[in-house]
Amino acid sequence: MHWQAIPLAIKQAVISLRHTLHQYPELSNHEQATQQRLLNALQTCRLRDYHCIGTSIVARLAGKNPDGAPIAIRGDIDALPITENTGLAWSSVNTGVMHACGHDVHAAWAIGAARLLSENPPESDVIVILQQAEELGTGAAFLMAQNAIPPETRAIFGGHVDRRYAIGEVVWHPGAISSYSDKLTIRCTGKSAHAARPHEGQNPIHMAHRMIDTIASWEGQHCGPTHFITITQCHAGSRHNIIPQTADLSGTIRCLCPQKRRIIHDALYALQEPGITVTITPSSPAVINHPGLESVAKQAIHNAVGIAPQSLPEPNMASEDFGHYTQSIPGWFFRVGARYPNDPYSPVHSPDFFAEDEAVLVGSAVLAEAVWQASAIR
Ligand SMILES: [Zn+2]
Repeated sequence: MHWQAIPLAIKQAVISLRHTLHQYPELSNHEQATQQRLLNALQTCRLRDYHCIGTSIVARLAGKNPDGAPIAIRGDIDALPITENTGLAWSSVNTGVMHACGHDVHAAWAIGAARLLSENPPESDVIVILQQAEELGTGAAFLMAQNAIPPETRAIFGGHVDRRYAIGEVVWHPGAISSYSDKLTIRCTGKSAHAARPHEGQNPIHMAHRMIDTIASWEGQHCGPTHFITITQCHAGSRHNIIPQTADLSGTIRCLCPQKRRIIHDALYALQEPGITVTITPSSPAVINHPGLESVAKQAIHNAVGIAPQSLPEPNMASEDFGHYTQSIPGWFFRVGARYPNDPYSPVHSPDFFAEDEAVLVGSAVLAEAVWQASAIR
């Protein structure tokens, strides 16, 4: 179904839902009111059952054949601690909280797809995942750990709005479409002393400085645009005349493949010595679009937007916790254009970010089509 052919009643319902979600954004793991609104919206669908897990919802829509393996779609639902500056009539009324990453759109298009799939049921049942806490990189892992997604699920689809692309453009990109993201922390422990007697202590700020230099020169030789380390925090000290005991660095490691990731981890751990502790905490695995779903994805995009799909111009080094699903379920992740053709680019996670309403409809059509296409395969 082309996105413009979505029935008017569904169009109006999902866009109005999107405005409400946008106006009342909630932070990760606190999406209680959002969960209730989405639960109400799901009542218009052909539900077999549903479960509220944390602040997420996992619902099962009835397909024609209840015994087959289901197909899943996922929309994330959380907002960010940002004060909105868009001037939209339906701007956030929750002070300091904003849907600055388009998850209001993703939640609404999951409901839109669920409505379309209820009107025209596919062969398979459909698992609709409305997921909390994507921004923390923990929501998908939480649902997987709770066994909320049936293990026999044979495909999963999701997407993200992208203002680099116009309405009606949907990115078709095989392989990695988001990055591995690991959190790096380095603690440098020296010896506190009076600033006037530095020889009585060991200054951890100098140790941290040496670490930053070492990492930067190693990176220069071994890293590139698809595998790198970014140091983002550097904390030490409390007063001008006290040599502190510790200095802490933190940052992120981004990679598209597990081999390069291993090399970076090994190099960082090799920096450890007395007084230097390196900790790497995995966050989200890369989202790998599954080769077995390539023709499904292409056909879905063709049917939903009617133009030749396009590939990403450069690797996407942002992370997306959808990668927790694609580690065990074949998946495909779309990037959905979200601005009018001549409008300027505004980045996600900024107070000015917004996605045009039509993106909700495009996403609804793409996800419903992906399910119809995948369901027809077996
Ligand atoms: Zn996002």
